[in-house]
Amino acid sequence: MGPAPQRTAPAVWVAVGHAAPVTVSQFILTQRDDSSLSVSWLAPRQRSRTSVEYEVMFFEKGEEARYTVKHLLEPNVTLRDLQPDTAYLLRVRSITPLGPGPYSPEQEFRTLPPDTGALSGGVIVSIIFGVLLFIGLLLGLLIFRRKQAHRRQARPDYNTSGFDREKVWLKPYVDLQPYDDPSRGVLEFTKELDVSCVTMENVIGEGEFGEVYRGSLRLPGKECIVVAIKTLKSTYSDSQWWNFLREATIMGQFNHPNIVRLEGVVTKRRPMMIITEYMENGALDTFLRENEAKFSPVQLVSMLQGIASGMTYLSEHNYVHRDLAARNILVTHSLQCKVSDFGLSRILENDAEGTYETKGGKIPIRWTAPEAIAHRIFTSASDVWSFGIVMWEVLSFGDKPYGNMTNQEVMKSLEDGYRLPPPVDCPSILYELMKSCWSHDRIRRPHFQEIRAQLQHFISSPQLLRPVADFDPRVTLRLPSCSGSDGIPYRSIPEWLESIRMKRYISNFRTAGLDTMESILELTAEDLKQMGVSLPGHQKRILCSIQGFKE
Ligand code: ATP
Repeated sequence: MGPAPQRTAPAVWVAVGHAAPVTVSQFILTQRDDSSLSVSWLAPRQRSRTSVEYEVMFFEKGEEARYTVKHLLEPNVTLRDLQPDTAYLLRVRSITPLGPGPYSPEQEFRTLPPDTGALSGGVIVSIIFGVLLFIGLLLGLLIFRRKQAHRRQARPDYNTSGFDREKVWLKPYVDLQPYDDPSRGVLEFTKELDVSCVTMENVIGEGEFGEVYRGSLRLPGKECIVVAIKTLKSTYSDSQWWNFLREATIMGQFNHPNIVRLEGVVTKRRPMMIITEYMENGALDTFLRENEAKFSPVQLVSMLQGIASGMTYLSEHNYVHRDLAARNILVTHSLQCKVSDFGLSRILENDAEGTYETKGGKIPIRWTAPEAIAHRIFTSASDVWSFGIVMWEVLSFGDKPYGNMTNQEVMKSLEDGYRLPPPVDCPSILYELMKSCWSHDRIRRPHFQEIRAQLQHFISSPQLLRPVADFDPRVTLRLPSCSGSDGIPYRSIPEWLESIRMKRYISNFRTAGLDTMESILELTAEDLKQMGVSLPGHQKRILCSIQGFKE
């Protein structure tokens, strides 16, 4: 008997002994006033006794970057401390031991306007008195909490223990801006290390501020550990000094397995140093270029899942990275990826490769969402766009997004609705996720939490990664300013091959004597095979693109 025909598995939740999560539906507003909304929904029917939990994500309409997540055991929620006469959007999903289900469509509910009934003079006086008393108490409480927070070394705990009931995930990070003297901010959030504990060994990179070294840190009573040491060059400007301290201050507030860990700083001696854990495989873009095609799709997805976890954590702390790119992800010896680079100096200083474009501050155009380029609207949703580009970089083993196109050409193409083509052999389910990150409307982009959950799902169901994305010449990007002949928007074969990520075959075309775009129009799969393009996926991609010229 021959092997059973293979079927492409659609992205469905498969129940194995447990109830699979299902979409939550039938929302009912059970109560509302000017500061709260109570909503219930239909509990999914369960075939087993498996426990079901609910995750509710809500935010004020138009403020989706400042969302709050709650976890509940019952199919209802009361949202409190809301603004009066304000619309809130809410999404709910069920979670079973199999994982989270899809989010429900967004539900909109509005709080009531404040009560403005006529009141007698006496009542008004009592209310004013009450309000003043309340404000006094609130101020007292705020001052007390602020003092407490300042006393604490602000290292928020990362909860890895699963659900934290009714936890509100808004713990904004503290920026250095409010401090008149940045050194005070650094004192609050970082540990000043005795320079005699630090040994610098060899230079491993050149950063914005100065050289980066590999070295060791031996703290009294602790084991010696390998570290990376970022130094601030002696010729530093005020802005470099400020940004150097800012990077340390921000990093010192984060504590997550996918964020590079700060060990401490040296600010009282020269050179100033930022000391972090050492990441053996260095920056992700270079690492992938040096290891092209060496990792399986599941390994690549695991790397991306790590980055998505780190970004979920940052977005929960209201931190918008603005420069999420493979060059700013570092990799450990076990391929764990960690988000790094929390400085802003890149926005001011050296940029030999033209990665950052000036527009009231420098912007990494190829990684940045259109609304952030055009209107400087940087949100977690614009970080999600950049995450899509990182996915593309990872799946193409460190290729440069948009190849040789200029930044202007990239912006124009995006405006015209074109997007990066799928990397070679890219699982179609991953290309779909990338494209959702590149939704022009930022509200339609997925949240990092959803991206993380989806990637996790692909890791546990690797068969979903088998179907490979087709190269569709109608929606993927072309060079807009090219002067090629009608229907062929490329000036040369190398330019065309580069744009469809097939530049590895440039010499094959040259050897076959094909040197104009017109000369390739009648190529067949057999011709390609004879030219040394033997992989069927690559033949298909080239032929699809040629077909696109003819349509
Ligand atoms: P840029 O903004 O251009 O990325 P930077 O000043 O932020 O520059 P980094 O990117 O942090 O500097 O560091 C420069 C290089 O040093 C990195 O590309 C990487 O190769 C190496 N490096 C930095 N930190 C570490 C680390 N913790 N472990 C290993 N290598 C590191």
